Amino acid sequence: MSVSAPTVANSLPSRADLTPECIHCGLCLQACPTYIELGKEADSPRGRIYLMRAQQRGAMPVSESFVQHISACLDCRGCESACPSGVPYGELVEKAREVIEHSARRSFWVEWFRAFVFRKMFPSRRLLRLNFDMLRWYQRSGVQRLVRGIGVLKLFPGHLAELEQLLPDIRSKNEHVALGTVFPAQGGKRFRVAVMTGCVMNEIFGDVNQATIRVLQQNGCDVVVPEEQVCCGALHCHAGIMDTARELAKKNIVAFEQAEVDAVISNASGCGAKLKEYGMLLAGDRGFAERAVHFSQKVKDIASFLDALPTLAKPGELRLRVAYDDPCHLLHAMKVSRPPRNVLRGIPGLELVELSTPEQCCGSAGIYNITNYELSMRILRRKIDDIRGTGADVVATGNPGCMLQIAHGLRQAGLDQMKVMHPVELLDQAYRCGQ
Ligand code: SF4
Ligand code: SF4
Repeated sequence: MSVSAPTVANSLPSRADLTPECIHCGLCLQACPTYIELGKEADSPRGRIYLMRAQQRGAMPVSESFVQHISACLDCRGCESACPSGVPYGELVEKAREVIEHSARRSFWVEWFRAFVFRKMFPSRRLLRLNFDMLRWYQRSGVQRLVRGIGVLKLFPGHLAELEQLLPDIRSKNEHVALGTVFPAQGGKRFRVAVMTGCVMNEIFGDVNQATIRVLQQNGCDVVVPEEQVCCGALHCHAGIMDTARELAKKNIVAFEQAEVDAVISNASGCGAKLKEYGMLLAGDRGFAERAVHFSQKVKDIASFLDALPTLAKPGELRLRVAYDDPCHLLHAMKVSRPPRNVLRGIPGLELVELSTPEQCCGSAGIYNITNYELSMRILRRKIDDIRGTGADVVATGNPGCMLQIAHGLRQAGLDQMKVMHPVELLDQAYRCGQ
């Protein structure tokens, strides 16, 4: 990829322009998975902030090296939690990626592919469904077995064969939650809530969405699934494609406003964190700035919502040893740590065990495991070693990307007996046991 002079540098209204400067204390370094793996200042938060500030001042071009160090960041925001000065690293890096997006000259095919994926496929439910239907056919028809058996993907450049192994088992189509449906509360209505189904979540983990809705119903919620909801735009922000992210945000705000609910529930932390930041994303938009803030205030992660309910429906016993892994965007962006643990501890018989570094990224980070495969796998190996030490039956984590990545790591390590589940699936299972 080559680069040209940036065209959007300093164009965004941003907290990042106003808020605390990095004081170079280095307290974030050991929170940074890429610094731990690569040991280079330029691949640490402090080093990247130095590069980004230099570029903003015009003292540094958007060079190949700038692009490389900024692209190697997971945007996990572990550094934000570690920073005593409150540097809004996530916002800085997304702004830098927008600059790169407008400056980089990529090959025709790479540009075409990015435009298709980010601007056509993710914003369109129909195209996304078609894509997953094709994957489902690939797996169910026996073509996948054939492709793996003859090893044809090893003939292609890059990591195509390894990336193919990352593909999840695309579960039954019947498990999607149908958009435009309302599910009534059980045992008396306390709240009316809406569920953000997510695009990847509803296609691959439709059963987690089903479990989320059942759990909410059992806790006295009428559950609305707005029909016009679209992708949250988180992946677009990570890639610096902010114009599409803003368009998606506006569509979601309109869709959820029409539902007239007390809360908007997210069970995918990557989506939830972005929905919570719509206020910032649309701060410069006269028609949507205020509506975005109001919308973001209503967004709740499922565990936080359940944990705050006065009394939770009574779960039955689950005799399981469960290790909880914090999804980065739940912990570092939404600052949610205790609620998922509280929900799990509330299940009789369930033994919750802690990882030694639950706050460290698993290397999934949106599509990082595709774009930075080798580094992603190095980061994943540390996570799997940590999980192995717990002897757990189940790893619980609340983000589809993390669920896929950890499941892949467990398979690679021969730890297939360990299951990966969303905390809400465990609660749903416990409710069924209690009936
Ligand atoms: S976001 Fe994560 S990978 Fe990027 S600099 Fe911060 S800690 Fe490191
Ligand atoms: S980002 Fe924060 S923690 Fe890291 S060096 Fe700068 S001030 Fe210190």
